[in-house]
Order: sequence, then structure tokens, then C-alpha cells
Amino acid sequence: MTITTRAAVLRRSTDDQPFARSAPLSVEEVTLQPPGPGEVLVRITAAGLCHSDLSVVNGDRPRPLPMVLGHEAAGVVEEVGAGVTDVAPGDRVVCSYVPSCGHCADCAGGHPVRCADAQAANREARLVTGRRPFRDASGAELHHHLGVSAFTELTVVSPRSLVPVPDEVPLDVAAVFGCAVLTGAGAVLNTAVVRPGEAVAVIGLGGVGISAVMAAALAGAHPVIAVDTVPAKLDAATAVGATHGVLAGDDAVEHLRELTRGGVTVAIEAAGHPGALATAYAATRSGGRIVVAGLPHPRHQISVPIASLVGEEKSILGSYMGSSVPRRDLPRLFALYAAGVLPADALVTSRSVPLDDVNAALDRLHAGTEVRQILTP
Ligand SMILES: [Zn+2]
Ligand SMILES: [Zn+2]
Repeated sequence: MTITTRAAVLRRSTDDQPFARSAPLSVEEVTLQPPGPGEVLVRITAAGLCHSDLSVVNGDRPRPLPMVLGHEAAGVVEEVGAGVTDVAPGDRVVCSYVPSCGHCADCAGGHPVRCADAQAANREARLVTGRRPFRDASGAELHHHLGVSAFTELTVVSPRSLVPVPDEVPLDVAAVFGCAVLTGAGAVLNTAVVRPGEAVAVIGLGGVGISAVMAAALAGAHPVIAVDTVPAKLDAATAVGATHGVLAGDDAVEHLRELTRGGVTVAIEAAGHPGALATAYAATRSGGRIVVAGLPHPRHQISVPIASLVGEEKSILGSYMGSSVPRRDLPRLFALYAAGVLPADALVTSRSVPLDDVNAALDRLHAGTEVRQILTP
């Protein structure tokens, strides 16, 4: 008893643009094995297109292929496999892209993003149960994307990847909490632990950066300075709590230092670009924290003046998925959204994008004209 569904499959990485023409993602009829023990069948109602998906398509983030892409999504539980007790059919859920086990030393220590079992499953592009349940029309196995594989009508995931969504949060907004909000807000609240009155700069205003701006404003940071190469994104950041916008470029560091009389206390690098990290480091005052949340190509290295690192006591902090604990943090973030103080609707710049339009959507993401486009498979 296999399930038939439609899914966007990446067979070969390419940077051949426009993607609408080269069509790296093919929307295909595929089969899905029903959920086995410790697995859940989820009907995806909303899937965000994230820059990390584009990085898999263009090869910046090499992954085993072919793969059913997509890692930021919300939907409804259709069926549960044997032994699954924490979700039930009909539950509204958001997916998290690190299926932490909950009982290893890292998970028990409050750092589930470091869970070795979850990282091995994601690296090998399989579920934590060991399975890869998608097959193409020829019967060939398709890899799973970060335990989610969201660009499809139906997917099978581990319950460890799922967090319930409260009724007051629409599922197309809930989807962006799974990656953009968890990563951006977490970088500010969990990794940097921003305190009221601290000067914060957020460099790179995609979904993660805009979420970081919202969280910095919510945490009482001042000023909150948004930095990007695209002027319209500075306006978008101002609309959700940034007090200033600075165009990225040659004089950005000087500008940031002037605005804060000597440098920001916290710089969030959300662009995944070595130049953005250099700006973040140079614009941070003595004793400041530089949080690196963007993921560039693995070949990139950092170069830091060691004398400044020591003499100015700066800290460079890596932040994966916002150092989050999804089952602790997502309910809090949903409550803040429902209370009207975390305006995550602003991240959703296109709703109801058909799955068949996914390649053109990649072009729009690459052009920087969209923050989050929500596919509705
Ligand atoms: Zn993402
Ligand atoms: Zn673990």
C-alpha cells in the first residue's frame, strides 16, 4: 500500500539561470511508503522557499541527490505509524529541520541542534528511522531533505521533527516559524541573549535577518540597525522594528560606528557571506558579540585580526537554527505572534505559490525581491 503524491525533485545542482528555463526542480508524480514505526504522514499545506533551498539547487550547499527539496513547512497530520503518541491525525503541526533525539548529552544539555543522531540523519539525507520513503516513477529511491522534504503534497517525517501549531496561528505563517523565525529570533534571544538597550546590527535581510530584527526590537535593543544591499529591504526592516537602515557597502562599518558612537554591541550575520561577516566583526565594539547565523559555501574561511579579538575581547558565536529548542521556543514565539508583538506576517511576501511555479520562485528569491514565498502543494 504505497501513497502517490506530487513532489519537486532536485536531480542535479545547477546555477544555470533563469531557473524558470533550466528547471532544476522537476515536479513529478512520486510514491511514498506509508509511515512506519516512529514515523508520521503529514499533508503539507504551506512550504516556505528559503535561501538554503536555493543553496542546495545552485550547489553552495552540497547534498546527496536526487532529493525531494524543502525544509520549512506546516501542515496537518494524516496518519501516524506504530508507537507514535505525541501527535495524532488532524493535529496542525510545524516542521523543524533538526530532528533531535531529546535524550543524548547535547539534547539533555539544552542544545538539541547539536544532536549527533539528528545531524547524521540530515547529513545522510534520510529519516532518523533510517528510511528514505520517497520513490520516483522508475522506483529509484529519493533522498530526504533535513528530515522534512516539504515541496510535496504529502511527506513522511519523524515526530521528532514536529511541533504543534496553536489554532490562532494560520498554517501559512506557521511555516516560516520552522526555519526563518526560529533561526533569526533564536540568534538574538538564545545565542546573543540580547538585553534591553544593547545596540544591535542585523546584516542580511532575508527571512532570518528580518526575524532577527523583530526579535531585537522585542528584546528592547536600541538602536536596531538593519543592513542590506537592497534599499527596499531596509524599508521592510524598519516596518518591523529597525530604528535605522544602512546600505551595505564600503562605508557601512563607518556608518554603523557613527550611529552607535563606537560600534554595535551585537552584530547578527544573516547573509551567509564572508564580506558580511567582515562588516559584522569590524562594526562591533569592544566586548561585543558577533553571531554568525548565515550558511555560506563550505569552502569559505574567516580571517580575523587576533590582536583585536584578544585586546578588544570580542566573541564570535556560531548559531545553528538559532541555538533553539523547538519544543520550548516555538510555543513562545507563536504566543508572541498571537499577541501581535512578533509580526511574522511581514515575512510572507507571496502566498499560495503553486508547486509547478517553484523554479520561477527560485528566480524571484535569487533576485532579492521576495522574503518568503509560500508554496501551497
Ligand atoms: Zn531555511
Ligand atoms: Zn540528541
